[in-house]
Amino acid sequence: MMAVNNKKKLKPGFLLHACCATCALHPYFLLSENFAVTLFFYNPNIHPEHEYKRRLKDVKIISKIYKIPLIIERYEVKKWFKLTKILEKEPEGGKRCDVCFKMRLEKTAAAAKKLNTGLFGTTLTISPHKNHIAINSIGKTIADAQKLIFYESNFKKKDGFKKTMRLSKSLSLYQQNYCGCIYSLQKKPAP
Ligand code: SF4
Repeated sequence: MMAVNNKKKLKPGFLLHACCATCALHPYFLLSENFAVTLFFYNPNIHPEHEYKRRLKDVKIISKIYKIPLIIERYEVKKWFKLTKILEKEPEGGKRCDVCFKMRLEKTAAAAKKLNTGLFGTTLTISPHKNHIAINSIGKTIADAQKLIFYESNFKKKDGFKKTMRLSKSLSLYQQNYCGCIYSLQKKPAP
């Protein structure tokens, strides 16, 4: 596992998939106590493109404020639609979301491997609307196949979601009101 020297002590590297800046804040502060965190932005599930750019802009802002290394992957929106097309009628929290999680976590695992960082995780489990058990199970399966370690989390616990929202508000960050994909936008569920 890659070790990153952060001046004070040597911490193991951690690649953290970030779905947006608001959701990344609380997990980042928790994890950075023990790990040298790098943010990884890979979210082809965010539509339309101006919304994707808006969320990415704020991730760049927190990266700059807190000096967090940031890796931005390509916006592979066509690939996302290809993978999820037959699941467009699925409700939020259904099979389409599992495919969406898998796509994003597979890319994070591949990047972790490339970076020689054996440990990766995701901010997705901070959402009260997402099933952390399903996310952890998908992450673990991917990690096992790649001989990596997936950090199983439930960042929403202990008021994690409220804490991250407060942090986001203090920085005047954008807070979206839908999950990300066009299907969730049409139904306008919670973020
Ligand atoms: S609702 Fe959210 S998690 Fe589910 S497919 Fe759409 S963007 Fe992905």
